[in-house]
Amino acid sequence: MTFSAADIRFMRTAMKLAERGKYTAAPNPLVGCVIVSAENQIIGQGWHQAFGGPHAEVEAFESIAMDDQAALTQSTWYVTLEPCNHVGKTPACAALIERIRPKRVVIGTRDSNPEVAGGGIDCLREAGIQVEVGCLANELAWQNRRFFWNANEKRPWVVLKWAESIDGFMDGRPREQRLPGSGGFPITSETSQALTHDWRALEQGIAVGAGTAIIDSPQLNVRSVDAPSPQIVLLDPDGRVPSHHPLFQRNIDLIHVVGDDSDKNASRGLSWQVEEGLDVLLERLFSQHHLSSLLVEGGAAVLNDFLNQGTWNEIKRWTSPVPTDGGLSAPRFPERTVPLPYGQASSGKLGADSWENRLHPRHLFD
Ligand SMILES: [Zn+2]
Repeated sequence: MTFSAADIRFMRTAMKLAERGKYTAAPNPLVGCVIVSAENQIIGQGWHQAFGGPHAEVEAFESIAMDDQAALTQSTWYVTLEPCNHVGKTPACAALIERIRPKRVVIGTRDSNPEVAGGGIDCLREAGIQVEVGCLANELAWQNRRFFWNANEKRPWVVLKWAESIDGFMDGRPREQRLPGSGGFPITSETSQALTHDWRALEQGIAVGAGTAIIDSPQLNVRSVDAPSPQIVLLDPDGRVPSHHPLFQRNIDLIHVVGDDSDKNASRGLSWQVEEGLDVLLERLFSQHHLSSLLVEGGAAVLNDFLNQGTWNEIKRWTSPVPTDGGLSAPRFPERTVPLPYGQASSGKLGADSWENRLHPRHLFD
């Protein structure tokens, strides 16, 4: 299927709209929709803003001015993801489009959700609407990488994140100074905060090990970006974190991962033992807590476990130009990674610090 330059342009607009849901749509996919008249004028546009909220197609339809309603029968709809044909929290979008009977519907990617999978497309075609599928499909698969990974692998998309000094340490203090409650050791400068908080806001969960929780007592929230904070996942299989720890006080929705399910600290516990492996932990976080993505912030031991078990999708690493001359060794950056696709920067600088964002070699988007 080849698409015209106009098709690609309108689908790109829909993709940009979809991106606006990046902090709030999960675990739902990012979806954008543009409705175009026979004269190639955009008459409606919308995107999926929040889990449980109206779908992009409904938002786009409702944005149409009274004067433009008559143009609907000759319109083309550009939707980044196959319209749903099941009634979930909202009525099915395929039914809405079928009722309006536009001339043509251009779809970016098929939905791999078994409740939809091709059904939305069939439903529109059976209604006699011209449907074309696959416009900007690869780029849209990248945009919705968390959603498609969830659907195919039944686990969250995992992003490993850490900051290290130019000489490879995550914490410049000697072991005897890394005491409970002593706080985090700043590696990067304040300037890096905005991007670090954006990285947090993009993922639905944020994981931290018991050691880091006890020593650094991090807040793990989003402060520099106007977005909700991710749900904290405290990895505490040996039950080391005391019940009065501030993380429990501040985060009522914290997921406390403990070796047995006798946890009384958190309203939401999850039972997992180290010997079961991280694959099992991820499957449980997805099936029991519907986490579509997880940012792993540390400490070094936890990050090394994810690296060694290959249970990661992306790495985001800060490097500061200042040496610490010793301390806690940073994880070893994997030898084989791939850059981000479609012209997205895989490295950059903010102030004196530099960052890298690379993908697991299994992810070749092209
Ligand atoms: Zn829908």
